[in-house]
Amino acid sequence: METIIADMRDGLDAGLLERAGEIIAAGGLVAFPTETVYGLGANALDENAAAKIYGAKGRPSDNPLIVHIARMEDLYRIAAKVPEKAEALAKAFWPGPLTMIFPKADCVPYTTTGGLPTVAVRMPDHEIALELIKAGGGYIAAPSANTSGRPSPTEAKHVAEDMNGKIEMIIDGGSVGIGVESTIVDMSGETPMILRPGYINQKMLEQVIGPVVMDPALFEAAPNVRPKAPGMKYRHYAPKAEMLIVEGKEKDVISYINDRICRELAEGKMPGIIASEETKDRYAGGIVKSMGSRTDELSISRHLYGVLREFDAQKVSRIYSEAFDTPTIGQAIMNRLVKAAGHQMIHI
Ligand code: AMP
Ligand code: MG
Repeated sequence: METIIADMRDGLDAGLLERAGEIIAAGGLVAFPTETVYGLGANALDENAAAKIYGAKGRPSDNPLIVHIARMEDLYRIAAKVPEKAEALAKAFWPGPLTMIFPKADCVPYTTTGGLPTVAVRMPDHEIALELIKAGGGYIAAPSANTSGRPSPTEAKHVAEDMNGKIEMIIDGGSVGIGVESTIVDMSGETPMILRPGYINQKMLEQVIGPVVMDPALFEAAPNVRPKAPGMKYRHYAPKAEMLIVEGKEKDVISYINDRICRELAEGKMPGIIASEETKDRYAGGIVKSMGSRTDELSISRHLYGVLREFDAQKVSRIYSEAFDTPTIGQAIMNRLVKAAGHQMIHI
């Protein structure tokens, strides 16, 4: 299949959007930008279309998809019950990087929900995504547009690396703004529960609706604790090189990593280092990449997956990463980083 690359970096293209909407309506696949990561979209209410997403990604079929909508009223057609707290959160954070889980309505196929009786819904804060959803009929199921097991795509070229020839169209809307996936909150139980951390953190949610709990499985490294979001149980992504996160005071972290770098270089190896703008010039060698500035946490989240993809393309013996426990989005960044490192982290 020839994949159409629709360049909308300089703004919407009505003709190409109409074409994209037709592809979705006809049961095809279109990758598109959102404010979090690039999504791989299909008509959420068409079970054959949704099934194609699993095929293109190589995604396990028990891993449910998030349904993207563009109008608040469309929520009531796919969710069987919308609690008042969810309406309050939608009012505060939609369009935005927040996904909520509801009991599903009958019209949502089990292919979309990975066999679950619930449906995950989000309204993305991105003009191209919103226009595509409307053009495609109102309901687009979309996981991240990467091959299963690779980092989520934050630029159209990442999508092309994984999806070229497998899907009908990739819409290039430039680099994304946030770079880590949406916060997922389960609204189907008594107390809302965060199943996946994202830009919208626990404190921000609690300011709107009061107590919100975190899925205890988020803090467990043990494989026998089952997370409530099926997708969170997968290793997700592991860099080709072994990865170690080093946490502690800045100068201790740098001197620990420098010590390791010197040893590896002496052994003829080439280590990789994930640093920040503030620290990148203080490492003794190896391949140093800056994630962004600690004074601008979105610059860090935005580059996380891209930096990991770059290291996969280079041969490094081992990756040492600083910790990035920034105030708002730090929990989400660390959740992804710790998973990539297979929980290998030391505190000094
Ligand atoms: P992705 O879109 O690739 O970021 O993956 C979607 C995430 O949402 C996965 O971790 C899924 O497990 C999770 N998810 C989607 N629908 C549900 C649901 N009904 N219940 C729990 N988690 C869900
Ligand atoms: Mg994903």
